Amino acid sequence: MTDSTDEDAPACHKCGERSGPASEQRVVTTVEDGTAVYQYFCSDGCLETWEMSRSA
Ligand SMILES: [Zn+2]
Repeated sequence: MTDSTDEDAPACHKCGERSGPASEQRVVTTVEDGTAVYQYFCSDGCLETWEMSRSA
């Protein structure tokens, strides 16, 4: 929990990577208990993997 003030890309929800070009990043909004939750992904690959795993 250091560098909490940086404005870099958020960590990928799937693999935890913070790097990656902005053009590859994906954000998905889900609703949990009535609250919007934003899930960040570093790429389509991570997003697709996560979606498959959560819908299984
Ligand atoms: Zn990722």
